[in-house]
Amino acid sequence: IVSFKNVQKTYDGETLVVKNLNLDIRTGEFLTMLGPSGSGKTTCLMMLAGFETATHGEILLKGKPINRIPPERRNIGMVFQSYALFPHMSVAENLAFPLKVRKVPCSEAGERVKKALAMVNMQSFANRMPAQLSGGQQQRIAVARALVFEPALVLMDEPLGALDKQLREQMQYEIKRIHEESGLTVVYVTHDQGEAMTMSDRIAVFNNGIIQQLAPPSELYEQPENAFVARFIGENN
Ligand code: ATP
Repeated sequence: IVSFKNVQKTYDGETLVVKNLNLDIRTGEFLTMLGPSGSGKTTCLMMLAGFETATHGEILLKGKPINRIPPERRNIGMVFQSYALFPHMSVAENLAFPLKVRKVPCSEAGERVKKALAMVNMQSFANRMPAQLSGGQQQRIAVARALVFEPALVLMDEPLGALDKQLREQMQYEIKRIHEESGLTVVYVTHDQGEAMTMSDRIAVFNNGIIQQLAPPSELYEQPENAFVARFIGENN
């Protein structure tokens, strides 16, 4: 569904934050970009989201260069740690708002909002205000808001970073369940090895702007390709 072809990125014209990256993301998979802080994961996600452009190379979405697809036609949902809900709107209004902007008819928007809330088990919270929800519930609504577009691809950048350990584990399970039930393609960014190992179909291990290894969790664990991967995967496990 997505191909990075020889993608490079510099912010200052000098330091390569992403170095000659090649990566094919398969339809329906849960792919995690895992690596230490500053390794280039978020930059890759931002390029995929269209918020940053590659300095060299190109990113294809369903075979087309992503920068030639207008943002509203890319059909990409996003969940970020800091992607806050609008505080003055109810849960249902928060979800309906992006559909209104895209001129989706009211009745259809209503149906989509209901469906998205059902996917995160939050149907009964439609009329609550964000301030009346716990952190985990707010994050579920942020996930529902990404699903309301019925996207082909969902990008998640450390979506559980602000939650405590118990809630994190519960949400990992929830997100995995949604992925399995929906058949969505998910690209997930984290620096947490445990999270990556439990959730992913494949993991791309980043260091210094380079993918060190791309493999399913068990393979990374049993056959790390180099010392960095062995050390990084071994930490906290
Ligand atoms: P983290 O988990 O901390 O977000 P990351 O692996 O996602 O790390 P990036 O956010 O992609 O890494 O950052 C890679 C490098 O690019 C870092 O050295 C960072 O300082 C730099 N960088 C990121 N965004 C910008 C920007 N907008 N302008 C200049 N430099 C940037």
